[in-house]
Amino acid sequence: MKRIAVFCGSSKGASDEYMKAAEQLGKDLVERDIALVYGGASVGVMGTVANSVLQNGGQAIGIMPRFLDEREISHKALTDLIIVETMHERKAKMAEMVDGFIALPGGAGTMEEFFEALTWAQIGLHQKPCGLLNTNQYYSPLVDFFTHMVNEQFMQQRYKEMVMVEENSGKLLDRFERYVAPGLKTYER
Ligand code: AMP
Repeated sequence: MKRIAVFCGSSKGASDEYMKAAEQLGKDLVERDIALVYGGASVGVMGTVANSVLQNGGQAIGIMPRFLDEREISHKALTDLIIVETMHERKAKMAEMVDGFIALPGGAGTMEEFFEALTWAQIGLHQKPCGLLNTNQYYSPLVDFFTHMVNEQFMQQRYKEMVMVEENSGKLLDRFERYVAPGLKTYER
């Protein structure tokens, strides 16, 4: 794995655990010689993960839409900051550059980005691993909702299993290395 996309909050969250998790993920990426690709902001969990990568001697690449450049306060010391025109371009650029997708805790923006990566994996547009870093059990209600989707037959079990959920970022990255994509989504006729 050469580059991983990390989606995460532009806010800091209510607990210090979120910042600590971002710092640890940054270290773990650098240790494995994996570059960070993320939204390019200097604020919230986004800024913390980028700073951790840079402080540990790694590469942090930001992809920022021009109109958000000021609002999200672009990180000024990244290895590379790529300015794009639209949110769609940002996600497309991130997706094409990386070998996997991780969501650290974040809000609606993080979820939107993660779900695009996940749904594209379901329909076979890519074969890259998708993982949730479940710091402070933040994503446990979402994992319960996936179970609900499976029980109500709106999600296939193999796609629920495709989402890797770990509290420890090192463990999550180890699982990424071993990931094998499931077969394509099938439909009942
Ligand atoms: P949030 O998790 O809401 O703090 O947002 C985290 C990141 O997601 C930020 O970089 C936002 O710019 C981005 N984001 C927010 N809304 C969207 C959207 N509709 N599509 C793509 N990215 C978004």
